[in-house]
Amino acid sequence: TEEVLRNTEKLVFAGQVAVSIAHEVRNPLTTVKGMLQLANKDTALRHYDLIMSELERANLMVGEFMILGKPQAAVFKLENCGEILEEVLHLFAIQASLGGIKMTQCFGRNATILCDRNQIKQVFLNILKNAMEALPYGGNIHIQMDVEDEYQRVTFTDNGSGMTEDVLRRIGEPFHTTKPDGNGLGIMIVHRIMESHNGRIVIRSEEERGTSVEIRLPIS
Ligand code: ADP
Ligand code: MG
Repeated sequence: TEEVLRNTEKLVFAGQVAVSIAHEVRNPLTTVKGMLQLANKDTALRHYDLIMSELERANLMVGEFMILGKPQAAVFKLENCGEILEEVLHLFAIQASLGGIKMTQCFGRNATILCDRNQIKQVFLNILKNAMEALPYGGNIHIQMDVEDEYQRVTFTDNGSGMTEDVLRRIGEPFHTTKPDGNGLGIMIVHRIMESHNGRIVIRSEEERGTSVEIRLPIS
């Protein structure tokens, strides 16, 4: 019957999600394990920052998938948008410099927004992760923050691979990915979070030129 079919689909979906979680969390854990295997105590200390940032990455990724499971778990508070952004940028600093990626910022007016801090972190994280992955040989990521029409606006612009029209049209569809180890969930999660915050997201992209992702969140 129809219901049986739907249940089967749900199980397939859950299975795909489980596989994605396993892959995404395994990557940073493998990096950390590798570094610790190579290291004696002195060199382990030297890699401390990288180890910590990889573990944080694994931690945030598990959080990402938790949002999928329980979207109602949000805790809305008044938060400073720039502060959340700084925190996420800090997480990416080491990885970016290792990958020859220059991050530039232009922070204009910074406002207070009513939001779930972890979810907004997740939004910035997913967008920045995509920008970094679009720059396998290095490049630039420019982050701009300003206020317009009662909205806090944050724009991430990379000069990476960009997207074909087809990829751009399908972006946000679950499991639609062009990456061998992608899961195609990042932008879908961003969409969901923006919806629950009455925000907006606009993605512009041109193949071989780059991508800009603009998000707007209502100011409190
Ligand atoms: P994933 O990163 O796991 O593939 P996402 O939902 O985050 O899933 O992104 C979906 C697809 O959108 C990516 O596979 C990629 O093709 C494209 N994409 C997203 N952001 C960018 C970007 N900054 N530059 C180029 N392509 C991008
Ligand atoms: Mg992604």
